[in-house]
Amino acid sequence: MPLAAWGAKYPFLQENLPFWEKYLLAREELHTLLAGMVSEATLATAGFLENLSEGKPLLAYGAVRLKPADIDRLSEAFCRTMGIPRQTVVLPSPLPLYEDLAVAEDAAGFVAAELHAAVAAFAENIIAADKELNWLEPYCPICGAAAGMGLITPSGKKNLVCSHCQSVWVYLRTACGLCGHTEERGATVLIADEVPNWLIELCEACGHYLKVLDMRDALPDIVSYPLHYLTTWELDLAVRGKGAKPALFAIFSRAGWLRRAAAN
Ligand SMILES: [Zn+2]
Ligand SMILES: [Zn+2]
Repeated sequence: MPLAAWGAKYPFLQENLPFWEKYLLAREELHTLLAGMVSEATLATAGFLENLSEGKPLLAYGAVRLKPADIDRLSEAFCRTMGIPRQTVVLPSPLPLYEDLAVAEDAAGFVAAELHAAVAAFAENIIAADKELNWLEPYCPICGAAAGMGLITPSGKKNLVCSHCQSVWVYLRTACGLCGHTEERGATVLIADEVPNWLIELCEACGHYLKVLDMRDALPDIVSYPLHYLTTWELDLAVRGKGAKPALFAIFSRAGWLRRAAAN
């Protein structure tokens, strides 16, 4: 679905669409550039695929490196497409796991985190595309971040979508996608009539809830997972008062400096 049609369907997202349009283009551009920077052979020999049962995400193997000159090129392309001033970005080499990526809450931090996420997404595409990895952890197999949302595929499998790099992995249907806790009766599931084909899995063990897109009855055209997530605010009303916190995509808070910059 083109973004204009998206705006017509969800008028409350209209004012955010210019940001998402640039963001999606910028991610595509990074993907194209990365093809000449990160080699498939290096990823394949990192040890990740051979040792899936160890539960170590790809970036924990320390095999993904970017040259400073390449980071400059990526930053230039990203900033140009986003229409923001060019940022000088420093990323550790090898690229660390998400939890070890310390970035400031400003423009440079935003760009650094987005470059890191783009490399992880690129690596997933190379190493895990069309494969069903035997990965049973409630964190991203590539960057190690938590899930931002869930999916139930047409065949009834639960997938999780990484809150940072948006990689997708298969997960246990009955376990909490955020902490792995398994409730004997299954997780508490809530729905909202206003948001068909979505459900909420509420976990008492970790006090969080995961929004899950159920694709068994309808296969939506997903332009972008975080953008799709933003159509579901009415789901949050269904859990109000239960004291639970939602799983979110990192991009939501990461782009906060843009709004602050616009307000000044
Ligand atoms: Zn990830
Ligand atoms: Zn949980």
